Amino acid sequence: MDTAYLTGRTAIVTGGGRGIGLGITRALLAGGANVAVVGRSTASLQALAELGSERVLPITADVSRSAACDDITAKTRDAFGGVDIVCANAGIFPEAPVESMTDVGLEEVFRTNVFGTIALVRSAVPMLRTSTHARIVITSSITGPITGYPGWSHYGASKAAQLGFMRSAALELAPWQITVNAVLPGNIVTQGLTDMGPGYIEAMTASVPLGRLGTIDDIGSAVAFLCSDGAAFITGHSLVVDGGQILPECPDAILEATRQELS
Ligand code: NAP
Repeated sequence: MDTAYLTGRTAIVTGGGRGIGLGITRALLAGGANVAVVGRSTASLQALAELGSERVLPITADVSRSAACDDITAKTRDAFGGVDIVCANAGIFPEAPVESMTDVGLEEVFRTNVFGTIALVRSAVPMLRTSTHARIVITSSITGPITGYPGWSHYGASKAAQLGFMRSAALELAPWQITVNAVLPGNIVTQGLTDMGPGYIEAMTASVPLGRLGTIDDIGSAVAFLCSDGAAFITGHSLVVDGGQILPECPDAILEATRQELS
């Protein structure tokens, strides 16, 4: 792919200062795009200094508030002249068993993951309509849309809700050639994942047919593809990026077969 394939285009990446969002930021910058990177804290935007690019605009904002989403799109337009790409990636995933879930915790997950996604897209649509290469890419998850995990039922519901939004928005925005897609990461090495502990990491790695956890650059590449001209005819699509983790009908059988193969 031409390394300057996104030159002249402007992206917003929420949660783009660390974790998966940083992988997306790096991939879009490598393609030549201007990138407005959003996080609630300046700490999560510190990695951007290392990128050393004049094409990065750090924005401190909380996507769970609609006024903040309007502010993000306005600041991006003022700095770069418009918005071509929206990557709604910011998300939270606190553990909460069904019985002990609080209203506050439940609302926080939905306000960030669902409301934040929709409010940002809503705010950016007028600018995306004037772009000739408009793209929306949502970071969902395999958890919720495809799989489940005890303790993350509210999170899974929020990630599935993002796909419900994506499909209708893709139809609604198609007349303007605005594509709306989602990436569904499997287990990707980030601070949040590392915090789950070595036991979780070991079990998850063992369940991935490709034999490793994902990297933030694996997701960055997938998002960059969906933002490229080569993906102009793809809309309403969910792209699973998980090393084959959801494929086995019985993970134990796969593990046993791999063990025998290697012995
Ligand atoms: P992470 O390392 O915790 O990063 C989350 C980012 O989102 C941070 O930059 C954070 O910055 C920002 N953020 C959180 N709430 C925000 C808010 N209300 N407003 C603005 N920014 C906010 O998480 P991650 O693992 O990279 O996850 C990123 C996305 O991928 C999430 O949507 C998650 O559901 C999804 N995902 C992750 C995995 C995985 O294995 N890691 C798997 C599947 C899906 P501040 O803290 O400064 O706000």
